[in-house]
Amino acid sequence: MKVVTVVGARPQFIKEAAVARKLRRAYDEILVHTGQHYDENMSDVFFDELDIPRPDYNLGISGSSHAKMTGSIMAAVEEVLLRERPDRLLVYGDTNSTLAGALAAVKLHIPVCHVEAGLRLGTLSNPEEINRICTDHVSSLLMYCTESAAPHLKAESLFDRSVLVGDPMYDAFIYFSQYAGRRQLNEIQAPEKFYYLTFHREENCSIESVTAVLDAANSLDAPTVYPVHPRNRSLVEEICEQHGFQNVLRVPPVGYLTSLALTLNCEKVLTDSGGLQREAFFAEKQCVLLFNYICWPETMVDNRNQLANCEKEDILTKLSAPMKVDRSYQPFGDGDAASKIIAAMQHVTLK
Ligand code: UDP
Repeated sequence: MKVVTVVGARPQFIKEAAVARKLRRAYDEILVHTGQHYDENMSDVFFDELDIPRPDYNLGISGSSHAKMTGSIMAAVEEVLLRERPDRLLVYGDTNSTLAGALAAVKLHIPVCHVEAGLRLGTLSNPEEINRICTDHVSSLLMYCTESAAPHLKAESLFDRSVLVGDPMYDAFIYFSQYAGRRQLNEIQAPEKFYYLTFHREENCSIESVTAVLDAANSLDAPTVYPVHPRNRSLVEEICEQHGFQNVLRVPPVGYLTSLALTLNCEKVLTDSGGLQREAFFAEKQCVLLFNYICWPETMVDNRNQLANCEKEDILTKLSAPMKVDRSYQPFGDGDAASKIIAAMQHVTLK
């Protein structure tokens, strides 16, 4: 069986790293990199460090508006699909690359298999929510990570094409943690004691939000390591020039092993990232989610992950709340989502 997999952004490279190692033993895989994330720090480092197979196609499409990017990727993926004639299309998550790949495939009657299906924030103001909803509705196989997706899939009449597989981010966390440690922390000169911050959602890129988050981080009892995403790099630079915030250690985006080392060794995590809040949970680190919407409700137990407005006082209050970890509670599966994804993809027909 021939599978075309479309990836384009950092979190998808990580999921692909976890899945491809096993998927390629079962199926012929053609890997398409759309180019949505393209530079050394946001793309190459993941392929090198995580031993992800070289893409068979590099579409080189990035930047511009949502519509332009989605449309350009659709047209380019269509050409690949017409040439390769695969039996399935595999996509992860909720980026423009996910949606564009899914739309191109389903119009050619190629069944779409979507990993991380059924996630809903409940607002169309989140650009990824639009991608999630549309991708799920044109998919023939919806693979969901945790039980909390099931009610959404049922409410949208999608449940009969859905299967619970666990979270490939958990597979990646378990497998790659063994390679993540002091070596990567030394490379970025991380201090002995530190907090770990990532913050770059489109909805959060206002002067007020970024200033409040940096102000909160700056006032903590240890430095905060902050790999700055290209999306808000210039805004962050501008704000730091004005306010100083010397206790926030800004670094360029780091590779996944460094991000894991930061997560495993930090005091606490502050983030608006869908992936990092789960990794904090896996690493048993307390997380404050800098966002207005719950993404992964199963993490919001015993103060392990709490929503905070992008306001200094709220962030500091949530960071000081007591946390408890119940190790018997494992909502993200058994760390082998990849095998379940491969098995589920065996029998899929266009719905
Ligand atoms: N990450 C990384 N380098 C960084 C920041 C984050 O490798 O400089 C990893 C992080 O550990 C997580 C993933 O990237 O696995 C999250 O990606 P992102 O926040 O871009 O996307 P989201 O998870 O919000 O979809």
